[in-house]
Amino acid sequence: MHQLIAGNWKMNGLRGAGLELARAIAAAQVGCDLAVFPPATLLAAVAAICAGTAVGVGGQDCSPFDMGPRTGDIAAAQLVDAGAGWVLLGHSERRNNHAETDALVRAKVVAAVAGGLRPVVCVGEHLDDREAGRQNDVVAAQLAGSLPAGFTGVIAYEPIWAIGTGRVAEPAQIAAMHGHIRGRIGPGIPILYGGSVTPANAAAILGLPEVGGALVGGASLQAASFLAIAAASLPPAAARG
Ligand code: PEP
Repeated sequence: MHQLIAGNWKMNGLRGAGLELARAIAAAQVGCDLAVFPPATLLAAVAAICAGTAVGVGGQDCSPFDMGPRTGDIAAAQLVDAGAGWVLLGHSERRNNHAETDALVRAKVVAAVAGGLRPVVCVGEHLDDREAGRQNDVVAAQLAGSLPAGFTGVIAYEPIWAIGTGRVAEPAQIAAMHGHIRGRIGPGIPILYGGSVTPANAAAILGLPEVGGALVGGASLQAASFLAIAAASLPPAAARG
């Protein structure tokens, strides 16, 4: 099965650069599954550019509620209407900056799936959790609280201390945590790694058998680095061809 390389653009991108980035990614023939998560302002335009290509498009969050009087929120149906097939949920920047709890993330997952979106649910420990050796318990609790029964989306393991810091988790740490997550969720659900993935470290991370792909922040904002990470997910012969 192909790995999934997903780009989280976060709160970056005006129309000019954002749509140019989307065009470059949509035009590439990389041979793995790609998805981009542009800001909501660019979602419909990026979805139009990526329509008919192998590049999926998703929102960075969605409301747990149906459409209605909730200023500033976006319902799953609106993401779908804008052309999204995916949605990121429970990203640490949502959990930390917007006080999102596991219960809220789970309600969002339920709403997203009911609305026809495929969720990527993010989990990951803080640095002090890891230094205290409790990362497995923290992530297990996030999984138990954030995933509804019968969950069928994608998980992204993103240690918070590795996000946007340039400090990437060691392959052994990634393999161990992915194995731990697999033991909790069972087979069939892809588990991505996220946290300072770059073209320089992608092959070592994506070559781990436990890793189903990558969720990429900073390096997804340039087509060259995002596509280089995607190329690193392919076996050498496929990447050459
Ligand atoms: C992210 O925020 O999802 C992420 C992985 O960011 P970065 O690649 O910049 O660490």
